[in-house]
Amino acid sequence: MRTLADAKSLPARDRHIVARLIDALPEAVIVVDASDRVVAVNAPALTLFPALRPDLLLARGLRAPDVLDAIMRARASGHAERATWLDRVPVERFFELHVAAMEGPSGSATMILTLRDLSEARRVERMRVDFVANASHELRTPLASLLGFVETLQGPARDDVGARVKFLGIMREQARRMTRLVDDLLSLSRIEQNLHLLPQSPVDLVSIVRHIADTLTPMAQENNVLLKVEAPASVIVGGDRDELLRVVENLVENAIKYGASDSLCANRQVDITLVAQERQCVLNVSDYGPGIAPEHLPRLTERFYRVDAGQSRAKGGTGLGLAIVKHIVARHRGRLGIESQPGQGATFSVTFPLQAS
Ligand code: ADP
Repeated sequence: MRTLADAKSLPARDRHIVARLIDALPEAVIVVDASDRVVAVNAPALTLFPALRPDLLLARGLRAPDVLDAIMRARASGHAERATWLDRVPVERFFELHVAAMEGPSGSATMILTLRDLSEARRVERMRVDFVANASHELRTPLASLLGFVETLQGPARDDVGARVKFLGIMREQARRMTRLVDDLLSLSRIEQNLHLLPQSPVDLVSIVRHIADTLTPMAQENNVLLKVEAPASVIVGGDRDELLRVVENLVENAIKYGASDSLCANRQVDITLVAQERQCVLNVSDYGPGIAPEHLPRLTERFYRVDAGQSRAKGGTGLGLAIVKHIVARHRGRLGIESQPGQGATFSVTFPLQAS
């Protein structure tokens, strides 16, 4: 905390009290005198605006016309004023500002600025809005298609047996797509609700890997893909068995769908390797398919993010698989890594801490 030694607006004793007071507050607070020079600035405000120091003109340490306007308005009206302010440099931050006058004994208009950093709240709100829009859009498409076929079957195709069989098949597929989407949405919200709870049951990852390899063998065979598993006898982690099954299933299914079964893939194989180290284990799922361009990698685990939405939908994808994987891995205090060279396949790695024996 620093104070202005020779501020003329407030007597030294008052300045001292003001400085002590704002230092005890959790939010960023800046006090300026009648000529808009900083009188006191507390630690949270200094973290946000390191250039601020006592005696500095506020405009020099905080280049924000909206903030200065709000101070002017508060001085003119004699009432507290609120304003918002978007700082774009060095990273985008969004603040809510509250300015109120504090009448000093001399009648000088000392102003108190309180700033709340709402960047995180705004980011979460944007994500929520995007999420609702995306989820509605994903559901609306199959719903519109279902409705269209129902109307056709009630109307022009009423007596067309061939069309009925064909349309009912499509309708079943669309209904299944909606079911998958709703199931994935529910899983995601359940996992999110429990994100802070560390699942503790001992689970053998090897049995999970082998179980998934067995379950997905028919799908691999249909796509002419060979699944190869390399794992020690057992690897015990603390976890939730169903969720860990989900992780391995999603990664292996993706490797078959988007990697090994690609028509240009020369090596139609998926390698699933599990290695135990001293304190952790690493599961790698590798394919040798078309890979993923680097610009997509950081966004792959976002909800509804797909490299090719048409391809994903055609393969029954909801765009939520990797988001679910990321959340489950985070809940298990693990790490998810994705490496890929376009044209040379992709490797998804998951690292989990081993359960102490
Ligand atoms: P989806 O339901 O679309 O499969 P995911 O979240 O599981 O959703 O995957 C997101 C996107 O990541 C996929 O649509 C696909 O474009 C890409 N992707 C995932 N795994 C691979 C892979 N092994 N090779 C190439 N692309 C992949």
